[in-house]
Amino acid sequence: MARRGNAMSRLSRNHQLLCDLLSLPTAPFAESAVVAYVRAFCEARGLEATPDAAGNLLVHLRQGRRRVARPVCITAHLDHPGFVASAMGRGGRLTAYWRGGVPPEYFVGRAVRFAVDGRWVRGRIRSIRTVIRNGQRRVDTALLLGVARPVPVGAVGMWDFGDPVIRGTRIYARACDDLAGAAAMLCCLDTLVTLEHPCEAYFLFTRAEEVGFIGAIAAARARTIPRRCVVVAMETSSERPHARMGDGPILRVGDRASAFTPAATAYCHRIARGLQRADRGFVFQRKLMDGGTCESSAYCTLGYEATGLCIALGNYHNVNARRRTLGPEYVDLRDFDNVVKWFVELARAPHPYTGRDEALEEQLAELERTYAALLAATSEVGRSGVAMTRGRRPTGRGSAAPSRSARRRAHA
Ligand SMILES: [Zn+2]
Repeated sequence: MARRGNAMSRLSRNHQLLCDLLSLPTAPFAESAVVAYVRAFCEARGLEATPDAAGNLLVHLRQGRRRVARPVCITAHLDHPGFVASAMGRGGRLTAYWRGGVPPEYFVGRAVRFAVDGRWVRGRIRSIRTVIRNGQRRVDTALLLGVARPVPVGAVGMWDFGDPVIRGTRIYARACDDLAGAAAMLCCLDTLVTLEHPCEAYFLFTRAEEVGFIGAIAAARARTIPRRCVVVAMETSSERPHARMGDGPILRVGDRASAFTPAATAYCHRIARGLQRADRGFVFQRKLMDGGTCESSAYCTLGYEATGLCIALGNYHNVNARRRTLGPEYVDLRDFDNVVKWFVELARAPHPYTGRDEALEEQLAELERTYAALLAATSEVGRSGVAMTRGRRPTGRGSAAPSRSARRRAHA
């Protein structure tokens, strides 16, 4: 359904893939079009996309002789806030469930398009029914009028915006969150397979994130992701004053709910710094993105070592708050390209994850080595010569020189 014009014909392979994915209909618990796309994509490359009991898709890519003890598992969700048709009535009336986080005041009067047999069927919202969920008033169902053709129960409805359009360095679409994340994973897989990079990595495509990462919780409970993996959850995340679009993909140290596994965050940071040294076009940011809660918090809470990456998103959940209206979401293509590079490097794992932040440990040890003598010589205890004897325990006033075991810890 992607528009193919002059602009499209010049698209890179990755941007074409992004456009394809951003054209698909999707909603929480109604991701079948995207699931089918991912499965066909994998099949065409000889990869197996294995569904778990919840319908999340897992791809395990192992190429060459490389065996990684703790491989990365990159994940993104396949849904976006949207409608699911629940009952077609007479006279073009349609009732649909709403699933996702958009404030009620944006609904009445808006046009919605439903995907029916590869075509769009439009209607306009006449009224909504709201409920209180988690202390907030949320839309539960909407009544639409003027629906010209029958819409079967289960059909996906999305806000009535056109297919993806590229303007300057940005791409505008009905849904970037999180189809752009899933597209970046497919671009990474495509690169790894095409260039035959030796690697070992897992890729998990999850369902129903927009109502509370239900697919991710199910995947963590079922151990869909092997326990030995370090999980990197990819999101599009609302642009913030301190995390701007175009300034590079963002390494998240945490979200609104929690701080992620420090060693996992440090690992992604180390990979990014390595990329930056080799590629001047690679830029990235490292931020606390506390606008919302993401799947990484669920993975951390449910026993995984996990962190998150994201790219800044405009019109988050299609809400243009400044103009108090709805609009297409958008992301920066340079951020997208750089996150694909980041994924490829995480999967190639030049220095595989160990569960520790060796770079910081090394840095601390180096500082300790540099200043140990000065510290000892200038401390009260050091000057008086007490407790300078190697192996003797300090007598309650602290040791002057770092003990041998402390140094060993720092090197460990
Ligand atoms: Zn999302």
